[in-house]
Amino acid sequence: MKYDVIVIGSGPGGYVGAIRAAQLGMKVAIIEKYNTLGGTCLNVGCIPSKALLDSSEHFHNAINRFNEHGIETTHVTVNMKQMIKRKNDVVDQTCKGVEFLMKKNKIDVFIGKASFVTKNLISIETIEEKKEIEGDKIIIATGSKPITPDIFNYDKNRVITSTEALNINSVPKKMVIVGGGVIGLELGSVFARLGTSVDVVEYMDRILPTMDSDCGKELMRSLKKMGINFYLSHSVIAVKASKNSCTVSIKKNETDEKFDVKSDYCLIAIGRKPYTEGLNLEAIGVSKDDRGKINVNEYLETSVPGVFAIGDVIKGAMLAHKAEEEGIFVAEYIAGGKPHINYNLIPGVVYTWPEVSAVGKTEEELIAEGVPYKSGKFPFKALGRARASMDTEGMVKVLAHNDTDEVLGVHMVGPRVADVIMEAVAVMEFRGSAEDMSRISHPHPTYTEAVKEAALAATANRAIHI
Ligand code: FAD
Ligand code: NAD
Repeated sequence: MKYDVIVIGSGPGGYVGAIRAAQLGMKVAIIEKYNTLGGTCLNVGCIPSKALLDSSEHFHNAINRFNEHGIETTHVTVNMKQMIKRKNDVVDQTCKGVEFLMKKNKIDVFIGKASFVTKNLISIETIEEKKEIEGDKIIIATGSKPITPDIFNYDKNRVITSTEALNINSVPKKMVIVGGGVIGLELGSVFARLGTSVDVVEYMDRILPTMDSDCGKELMRSLKKMGINFYLSHSVIAVKASKNSCTVSIKKNETDEKFDVKSDYCLIAIGRKPYTEGLNLEAIGVSKDDRGKINVNEYLETSVPGVFAIGDVIKGAMLAHKAEEEGIFVAEYIAGGKPHINYNLIPGVVYTWPEVSAVGKTEEELIAEGVPYKSGKFPFKALGRARASMDTEGMVKVLAHNDTDEVLGVHMVGPRVADVIMEAVAVMEFRGSAEDMSRISHPHPTYTEAVKEAALAATANRAIHI
């Protein structure tokens, strides 16, 4: 069988790229090694984690906040098996949705492990058989896997990654999480809300170290109130696991201070690495960098002409929407278009409560780059909408160029800011100014008014409500 495009991997990069290529009239095949389509994001990433974040948030609110709203509840309990079942149902429906989209777009789906025979010939291996298909252009979208250094003794039972954490079906008493990044804080929130005692061990001196430092500070305050315990500037030096528990040895950086914590689980959340195992890239000469990411040029083409790579397996943020944009980019480029991705404006979100979201430059980056900037901040506690919902933690910060007033970065911690950030992305995509943002009428009462107020604060300190 001969195809115009063969996509390897059915995550958000691969399946979206396949659909766009089919829309542009190409004959497309997609190969996935697991039985369900959708990749990390749909099966063991974005979707299941958000399902559990929602369920655990309902429970947390029922226990801690309903009374203040005048809703009296007695004996609210967690049925973890039902929570996991609902999560699995959401995942099933979402993955089936991708299957439907493949059929709708007449994309041939092959389940099996793909590897290169030549740059145009792909072998697909299943337990039963091995076959080969031919493609004019190949898109590698094989994603990433968790980093699990040997010292952690990752056993998938007590020493786990996010993949196993999403299927724990009774509430643990104690969990140690290594890494105060996105996964650590999202899954840490899930279990802390359900009643688990959670310790987060973070190597750096702050959580979310790649985001604007105000975001980490604000969020840590809220998560501490919820009961999460943080060991910043600490490292895990060893983990010993038995059948029912584990002992995590922790050391304070640059000191001799060491201690052990006994825990039901140790969740490793220290980042992910590109996944290219078994692709046989060496056979065709696709080059990788020293961290194992596939090298690509500005058109996302690898060192082998006609072979492209997208998503987590190449440089850049490991985010589903970044992978999707790259899938569309490559399909359009192959079709002769001139697509463009503005990597500076790929937003980042952390689905804790309060949520965290950001786009553009952090204040630290502007300082390091010597860009003259001004900053405007607005706290949610000054917002009527936030008081009405009792969600008064957090703030919005707008960073604008000191001379031109162009918005350069927007950083938020607060209620529903995962959605609110899109206003900033849109304004920045059109290279709008803080004054543009501040003059747009925002509906009252909404959380979005905090963006207007922060933009006003950045525009000559003109916020109205502080
Ligand atoms: P993947 O989704 O990893 O898909 C790659 C696919 O390729 C997999 O299905 C794999 O089985 C398949 N494959 C690999 N090798 C082969 C082969 N040889 N043959 C056939 N198939 C192969 N991102 C967000 O933007 N928002 C979130 O809220 C979010 N939450 C997350 C929560 C968790 C717990 C995790 C782990 C990740 C989360 N992410 C989130 C990150 C997001 O999941 C990834 O950035 C995204 O899935 C990357 O997409 P991809 O298409 O590059 O690869
Ligand atoms: P991450 O890079 O977000 O965080 C890892 C954290 O671990 C960092 O703070 C780092 O300083 C710390 N760390 C690294 N080594 C350590 C060590 N030995 N001891 C203690 N701390 C250590 O990685 P993650 O949380 O594993 O997530 C992986 C990827 O998945 C991220 O790139 C993220 O983009 C993606 N993801 C995104 C979302 C989302 O968009 N909401 C959710 C989950 C995951």
